[in-house]
Amino acid sequence: MTAPMPPSPSPLPEAPPELGLVRDEPMARHTYIRLGGPAAYFGVPEDLDAVARIAAWARDVDVPLRVVGGGSNLLVADEGVQAVVLSLRHACGTIAFDGTEVTAGAAVMLPALARQAAEHDLGGLEFAIGIPGTVGGALQTNAGIGDGRCIGDLVQSVEVLRDGQCLTVPREEISIDYRITSLRGSGDIVLAARLLLTLRPRAECEAESRALLETRQRTQPTADPNNGSVFSNPPDDHAGRLIEAAGCKGLAVGGASVSTLHANFIVHDGNASTAHVVGVMAAVQRRVMEQFGVRLVPEVEWWGDGPLPSPFQT
Ligand SMILES: Cc1cc2nc3c(=O)[nH]c(=O)nc-3n(C[C@H](O)[C@H](O)[C@H](O)COP(=O)(O)OP(=O)(O)OC[C@H]3O[C@@H](n4cnc5c(N)ncnc54)[C@H](O)[C@@H]3O)c2cc1C
Repeated sequence: MTAPMPPSPSPLPEAPPELGLVRDEPMARHTYIRLGGPAAYFGVPEDLDAVARIAAWARDVDVPLRVVGGGSNLLVADEGVQAVVLSLRHACGTIAFDGTEVTAGAAVMLPALARQAAEHDLGGLEFAIGIPGTVGGALQTNAGIGDGRCIGDLVQSVEVLRDGQCLTVPREEISIDYRITSLRGSGDIVLAARLLLTLRPRAECEAESRALLETRQRTQPTADPNNGSVFSNPPDDHAGRLIEAAGCKGLAVGGASVSTLHANFIVHDGNASTAHVVGVMAAVQRRVMEQFGVRLVPEVEWWGDGPLPSPFQT
């Protein structure tokens, strides 16, 4: 006797044409690692009204809404995501300086913001010069660098779209920790952030940024598509040190492999799939657990509809 067929998922609704959403947009076009299957709907709304209209429609038809920034912390399933994915690059791309404060749209890229701040003789963002993410993305994980500097140190307030309303959330109402903030998973769409910078001569800002970029280029596979640090650092240790000590540099699954330059980076040869990257993550996690008894936790975020792949399960 054959097993009964599972019920087929209900078909996705057609989006009203005036929302400007396209169907089945390959997310590989929008992730820094250049991998990922299709988003059921994808849009680049022109302004905040359009963002709110799309969000309202997604709520009405019960399709999840996701925002993609620089796509630099995302691993998207090969099968894609049944979601409305929005890029805010048209709606939230402005930068406004006011004394030592800057209000930056959520889609502003951190390196561009750091450069513009330096041009205004403002320091504080030098650490962000090599982080290929947006302000909105950085605020989910409190993006920062190894010496402890992070975006959370600068935040004064954040503008969000919450349940169709634009609100200003003061810093005191946001909890900010190592690579996590209370904005992550809250359902708020970040629209902009007000950051407090410090007066610093442009030449000094630029010299420090150059030095930081040179270090990155020497120590990280910056020329290859990747996800940055794949695993978070465990307390009092470094994920990269553990992965290297477990002999994982160069470990490959299909076209994806652990970088031979920095063990906490996974790179690929252009013929890889997301499944290959997940396979490398699982193998790395297993070896580090076997040799050091440490369970590495992904820093990169998973986007998919099915069960969480094993490296992402807690
Ligand atoms: C080469 C490389 C180097 C890196 N170096 C660092 C580093 O030094 N330090 C560090 O902390 N990270 C680093 N990263 C990781 C990554 O750049 C950061 O996590 C970055 O902040 C992610 O921003 P993003 O815009 O790319 O977010 P995405 O990857 O696009 O999205 C990440 C999450 O943020 C959400 N999101 C994005 N925008 C919004 C918004 N407007 N509103 C609500 N949610 C939003 C997304 O929905 C998703 O959940 C690196 C990555 C790469 C590829």
